[in-house]
Amino acid sequence: MKVVKFGGTSLASGEQVRKVFDIVTSDPDRRIVVVSAPGKRYPNDVKVTDLLIQCAEQYLQYRAQEHGSENELQRMAMPESVAAIVKRYEEIADELKMDAAVISEIEHNLLSILEGDISNEERFFDSVKASGEDSNARLIAAYFQSRGVDATYINPKDAGLIVSDEPGQAQVLPESYDRLYNLREQDGIVIFPGFFGYSENGEVITFSRSGSDITGSILANGVKADLYENFTDVDAVYSVNPFIVSNPKEIKELTYHEMRELSYAGFSVLHDEALIPAFRAGIPVHIRNTNNPDAPGTRILNEREQTNGPVIGIASDSGFCSIYVSKYLMNRELGFGRRLLQILENHHLSYEHTPSGIDDISVILRQNQFSQREEDQIVSRIYEELQADEVKVEKNLSLIMIVGEGMRHNVGTTARASKALAEAGVNIEMINQGSSEVSMMFGVKNKDEKKAVQALYREFFAGVAVL
Ligand code: ASP
Repeated sequence: MKVVKFGGTSLASGEQVRKVFDIVTSDPDRRIVVVSAPGKRYPNDVKVTDLLIQCAEQYLQYRAQEHGSENELQRMAMPESVAAIVKRYEEIADELKMDAAVISEIEHNLLSILEGDISNEERFFDSVKASGEDSNARLIAAYFQSRGVDATYINPKDAGLIVSDEPGQAQVLPESYDRLYNLREQDGIVIFPGFFGYSENGEVITFSRSGSDITGSILANGVKADLYENFTDVDAVYSVNPFIVSNPKEIKELTYHEMRELSYAGFSVLHDEALIPAFRAGIPVHIRNTNNPDAPGTRILNEREQTNGPVIGIASDSGFCSIYVSKYLMNRELGFGRRLLQILENHHLSYEHTPSGIDDISVILRQNQFSQREEDQIVSRIYEELQADEVKVEKNLSLIMIVGEGMRHNVGTTARASKALAEAGVNIEMINQGSSEVSMMFGVKNKDEKKAVQALYREFFAGVAVL
């Protein structure tokens, strides 16, 4: 049995949905299909999820002004944004020559969510966002049925996909897996909306953005699938961002660990939380292209053959900052690190890395988590409570990650990387090697990110032209 997930661009138009139909029906093992909301049809297009977010925002504003909740008024205020969303589904249904009934149902469901409880804004947003996937799953199921295929829309609540009560950041609860196993018994093809589950209290809760990948992986684990196929719009996972290096090398095979590191640091092909459920059940993941299903794609497995050099991919992401703290004899001071991190925890900040020396430590965080005021407060607390000698906040950093299982066995990878960066005139602000030795991270200034990635690519994948 295979679980197959299709992303937003694979379902953005009637033509795309036809391709999805052909792919699913060409293999009888493709029994469970997870769908995203319709995505972009062309570069400047807006994804349905983003339209839904805008719509929810406008709606909340309107409700705040009006204080009332007369349904009629709400409908009057919202026709444009609601209509834009319904139109996306309508166009798909028209292209597929489907009955209009499914569109009326989609419109009705959306309006009743928008007119529902807004006392908790986060929950309201989650319900509106989740409707993108939910409506699409209903539409796709109806389309498969119209083509004479036995296909059923299944709601995550009915299937038992229970998640933590963290709007916009749900985590699957372990008891879901046993319940989801029953999906195996469903006749025909299951069409399942991605991106959300239900809390124990029955509220709709979404995963983080692009979370349909996570749903696919959870379902693959739940039904103990033989394979999780993730269909997207590229032929393969590339060894580096194609917007930074032209025609980068395609990766045929990756380990879970390598993919996790790469997607964390900016490879957006697969959500970085989407691997764990499949990995835990030992289910291989196959990334494939809906627009070119004959391409071999990229397989993500437990182990792979070590055919290439030490590095399999280079990723980069911007928007980080570092809090550098130095204090003489820090290494001998019991609890220093804990107290430093406690200050961050008090401010509800999560950190990414903590490279450290004898008398100093840096904490790397995502910059968008705090304001200048909070930063000032944190800095003074570190001075006062930890008696630090120096505290410096460095903003606008990019993290560049070179990743490869082969680094464990190859000597001199750091030297090669830092030499390449030095030759390109890039100053390394920080180096951190993951304890697993599968990745090495360099912190550089945002402005040097592109140059640094190109230099590293040249070093480890020589002979390919860079942009
Ligand atoms: N539609 C959602 C998003 O745009 C989830 C997904 O596509 O996976 O984030």
